[in-house]
Amino acid sequence: MMNHIYHKFLCFLAVGVASLSTSPCFAQAQTSPKLSVHWEELTAADFREGIHRSQGTCLLPFGILEKHGPHLPLGTDLLDVRYAALHAAEQEYTVVFPEYYFGQIAEARHEPGTIAYSRNLQLALLQETTDEMARNGCKKILIVNGHGGNDSLLPFFAQTQLDKPHDYVVYFFDERTPREGGPARKTKIDMHAGESETSKMMISRPDLVHQDRAASESGADQHRQKIPENVYTGIWWYTRFPFHYSGDGSAATHELGEYQMSWWIDSVVKAIREVKADDVSLKLQNEFYEKSTHPLDTQP
Ligand SMILES: [Zn+2]
Repeated sequence: MMNHIYHKFLCFLAVGVASLSTSPCFAQAQTSPKLSVHWEELTAADFREGIHRSQGTCLLPFGILEKHGPHLPLGTDLLDVRYAALHAAEQEYTVVFPEYYFGQIAEARHEPGTIAYSRNLQLALLQETTDEMARNGCKKILIVNGHGGNDSLLPFFAQTQLDKPHDYVVYFFDERTPREGGPARKTKIDMHAGESETSKMMISRPDLVHQDRAASESGADQHRQKIPENVYTGIWWYTRFPFHYSGDGSAATHELGEYQMSWWIDSVVKAIREVKADDVSLKLQNEFYEKSTHPLDTQP
């Protein structure tokens, strides 16, 4: 506060009273401050302004801690998804929730460094997190998923928001890699710590990529399960990729990473804009909750 007043005093001395209203000093004092997109960096008053500026739309980037082949860090999904979400929020202002990695990863419990919370805790923590975000004004919560194993958690979580009334809507965005375009890919199997994911890490945290180790384990599909594709079982991933590695990270390039990461950021920007513009979901969700209290009175 003292510095701010002192600065204004110096301006006053420098430009004089007559020209003060047109001086750069005055303009600087009047323009609205640049707000951080990081929830944890905002003051309480700036948080209120951030929620207003984001029209009540908040991002929850969702990562995990799990092995990523022999060459990428445990937090790859968290680091990548936060890179994409934070850059998107800079382009289309939204408040971004801090590091969140409490997701579904039972299939990597045999590997060092995996943190696999129980199923009840995953659901309870996510519900309380979104409830608390909403209590603080986030009426549209866009979960940006960075981890494939959360595909087993997030649709169930979003769907069960209908079980009782909430004054907010949960959306989730679940794409990380473009299906086509950009530099040609060299590998066919590319699901986990492979060419695409390693390339993206070369953009978000190149200092953590140990590409020289990428070929020291096999990420090949071992095809050990002999049941039809339309019959599901949780062990499928381990039967195919027992080293929690799917693909070949040594094929990664900076060029592919740049293409995929900028596609990801653009896609999140579009999703934020669409969520902000959505004036239907909350309205119909409320209508649905009301009707669900007296189903026998609703029309056939
Ligand atoms: Zn990953």
